Amino acid sequence: MYDKMAEPYRIKMVEKIRLIPREERERKIKEVGYNQFGLKSEDIFIDLLTDSGTGAMSDNQWAGLMLGDESYAGSRNYYNLQDSVNDIIGYKYFVPTHQGRGAENVLFPLLIQEGQSVLGNMHFDTTKAHIELKGGRAVNLVIDDAFETQKEHPFKGNFDIHKLTNFIEDNGVEKCAFILITVTCNSAGGQPVSMENIKAVKEIADRYGLRVFFDAARFAENAYFIKQREKGYENKSIVEIIREMFSYGEGLTMSAKKDGLVNMGGMIAIKEDENLYEGARKMVIPMEGFPTYGGLSGRDMEALARGLREVVEEDYLQTRIGQVEYLGRKLDEAGIPIQKPVGGHAVFVDAKKMLPHIPYNQFPAQALCVELYIEAGIRAVEIGSFLLGRDPDTKEQLKSPLELLRLTIPRRMYTNNHMDVIVEAFKNINKKKDQLKGYDFTYEPEVLRHFIARLKPVE
Ligand SMILES: *Cc1c(COP(=O)(O)O)cnc(C)c1O
Repeated sequence: MYDKMAEPYRIKMVEKIRLIPREERERKIKEVGYNQFGLKSEDIFIDLLTDSGTGAMSDNQWAGLMLGDESYAGSRNYYNLQDSVNDIIGYKYFVPTHQGRGAENVLFPLLIQEGQSVLGNMHFDTTKAHIELKGGRAVNLVIDDAFETQKEHPFKGNFDIHKLTNFIEDNGVEKCAFILITVTCNSAGGQPVSMENIKAVKEIADRYGLRVFFDAARFAENAYFIKQREKGYENKSIVEIIREMFSYGEGLTMSAKKDGLVNMGGMIAIKEDENLYEGARKMVIPMEGFPTYGGLSGRDMEALARGLREVVEEDYLQTRIGQVEYLGRKLDEAGIPIQKPVGGHAVFVDAKKMLPHIPYNQFPAQALCVELYIEAGIRAVEIGSFLLGRDPDTKEQLKSPLELLRLTIPRRMYTNNHMDVIVEAFKNINKKKDQLKGYDFTYEPEVLRHFIARLKPVE
C-alpha cells in the first residue's frame, strides 16, 4: 500500500549530488582513517548520517524566512511561533532555544537536585549528558522487548511500568527528580510510546507526586504511530492525538531539527506552571538569549512556526513513515537482517547477524559502514561497540548488546529511487560479506572517540 502512496508535494528546487568513482571512494575513506565522520559531504552520494537538521524546508517555510523580524525584543515571528505552540502542542508558555540541548541546559537545573534520578524510557545521549552535568542520574526503564531486534511489538518505546514503580519504591520518591518520556524513543530505534503507556506513567507520577515531562523531538511521528496502531485513535486527528499526549505532561524540551522541519532550532514549552516558566525565562537569557529569540533569528522562528503546522499533516506523515517502512521491507525481502518493526526515522541493520565472523572489538557495524560507502557512496552511522567505548576504570573495550548500522532518513529529501539504490548496495555487499574485515585503532581519543578516531583494517 505504501508503494502506491505518492508524496503530497512536488519538487521546486534541487540540490546536486554526485557519485564519485569507486577508486576515489576507496581512497577518500582510507584518507580519513575509515571514519565516515571525516568525509566531506560533497564526496557522499546519499547521506544517512542523521535526520537532525538535514531535512528539506517547504516553499512556505522559505517564504517565511523573508518575513524575519530581527528585532532584539518582541519579534513578530516569536508571536507566530507562540500561536503554533498553543494550537498544536496545547501548552500556554514557551521559550525558544538554539536547539534541543540548549533547552535541556536551561530547563534541567530547575528540576534536578544533586543525586536525584531522572526516570526515562531511554534517554538520548545529550539528554543524559545534561542530566549528569546537573548532578543527576539518567535511568532507563524501557520494556525489555526494545532490545529484541527480531520481536514484533507495536510500541517498543514504552516504559516498563513495573520497573518504574520498583525504581521509585526502592530508591524513594525524594531521590527522583521527574519522569521524562521520549517520543519517539530515539535510542531504541525511533520506536513509539503508546497513549495507554503515557497514561499509565502519568498515573504513577500522580500517585507519587512526581512530574512528567516530554523529550518531544519526534512528537508528530509518535502521534502517527498511535493513530495507526492503537485502538480508539483511528479516527482522531494527529493534532488531537498530540494534544492528548502532551496533556499528561507538565512541559517539554524539543529539538526542532527533527519534527520541527527546520535546520536549526529548539524550545522549552510549559503547560501552565507560571513559576517554572519564569525560571526558564530567567535562565535562558545568560545561556541562549533574550526570551523572545532564545538563540534563534527571527526568520528561523518563522520557519519553525510554519514547520510545526506542516509536520502534523497526515499525508506528509504517511509518506514520511511509509518511506522508512519501504526501505525496511525491501531490505528484509533481500535477506538483510534488520530491527523489527522499523521505527519512525531510521532502519537499523543488525551487523552482528550479518557479519558474525567479525568480533565486537573489531566493530562489525563500522566495517559495514565503510563497505557501504565504498560500494555506493552511502554514509550511515555505527551504533554499537565503537560508539560505546571503553570501561572508564579498566579501559577494557565494552561489548555492546547490539551491533547496529543506522540508516537515518532525512525528511522530504530523498525519493524511493534512492531507497532502491541503498537496497541494491546491501544486496551486493551481502554476496561478499564473508570477505569483510574488522577494524582496529590507529588513533583513539579518550572522549567521544567515534567522531574523530582513525582506524585500519585488521589483516
Ligand atoms: C536530537 C535529540 C536531542 C538533542 O537535540 P539537538 O537539537 O541535537 O541539540 C534530544 N533528544 C532527542 C530524543 C533527540 O533526538
